[in-house]
Amino acid sequence: MAKRRIYIAYAGGTIGMRTTERGREPAPGYLAEQLRTNPIFDSEELPEFTINEYEPLLDSSNMGPSDWIRIAQDIEKHLPDYDGVLVIHGTDTMAYTAAALSFMLENLNKPVIITGSQVPLCELRNDAMDNLVTSLILLQRFADRIAEVCIYFGGRFLRGNRAKKIDGEFFGAFDSPNLPNLGRVGIDFELSWDLIRAPKSTRKPLHVQPIGTASVAAFRLFPGLKAKTLAPMLDGIQGLVLECYGAGNAPHRDLEFMELLRQAHRNGVVIVDVPQPIHGCANLSLYATGRALLDVGVVSGFDMTPEAALAKLLYLLSRESNPDEVRRLVQTDMRGEITLP
Ligand code: ASP
Repeated sequence: MAKRRIYIAYAGGTIGMRTTERGREPAPGYLAEQLRTNPIFDSEELPEFTINEYEPLLDSSNMGPSDWIRIAQDIEKHLPDYDGVLVIHGTDTMAYTAAALSFMLENLNKPVIITGSQVPLCELRNDAMDNLVTSLILLQRFADRIAEVCIYFGGRFLRGNRAKKIDGEFFGAFDSPNLPNLGRVGIDFELSWDLIRAPKSTRKPLHVQPIGTASVAAFRLFPGLKAKTLAPMLDGIQGLVLECYGAGNAPHRDLEFMELLRQAHRNGVVIVDVPQPIHGCANLSLYATGRALLDVGVVSGFDMTPEAALAKLLYLLSRESNPDEVRRLVQTDMRGEITLP
């Protein structure tokens, strides 16, 4: 098979870090140099690639919407000349970036794979080499069959907006709690082509919808929460991801809390309920503690991860000014991020 052309956007992460007296920090030049000079990356099985090392390289804990816009615009600029993109990124906020890119990259018709590692490439025993090599092989072999933002990490191939960092210690750092994996990579590549979003023949050109102009927050309910703790957060925001208990339930006997949500809704804040359990779907009509939320205007995010719900809210609120339209679109499947009941 002829070598495909892949664009690598290297944003940062442990994968290219070294340990300094301040702890692990990105080491400019190191990873890009390895990719250019290590003979492994010349293999016939791998695609041709160009690497763009970002300045500064970031620990992904330092990343936010402006970095997502930078990556999205970099992809928009280069994708027409390449068969696919590999984004190299830290694991801490990789799921947020993956979800954000999935929404921002409108009409995406080629693969964008995001990877990183738990242990830096410079260490003898690491997961960096496999994650890099396997991501590149996925792109070389299947670039013409994948048209979505994915994560490859530790043997799992996942839809980006379904992924969640579930492990801080082992190499299988990511999983997709509410959608089966798009693939598993062991001795062989086992890809689920029925799940993978395939390129379409009639497509509008790739377009980036920048996100980040909207003001969105996320809040995890906890027993003992006082309405006055949440109140300042609701001031001046347009969207809230509310991580609720169980099937999407909240303390409905706390009238002050319920009134706070009702007022926020009336003020135009779009409140999206996502469940705290890692696996499962919000079902707000199951319990009185869920129905009460529907009564004050909260909308169910069904089985979206909190990461995807936050990115989707930012995206929608950057695009639409009518909160009711945003509420409708929150419950619409846009990029395979939600399972509608
Ligand atoms: N703190 C690192 C980051 O997110 C962790 C990693 O890459 O694994 O950039």
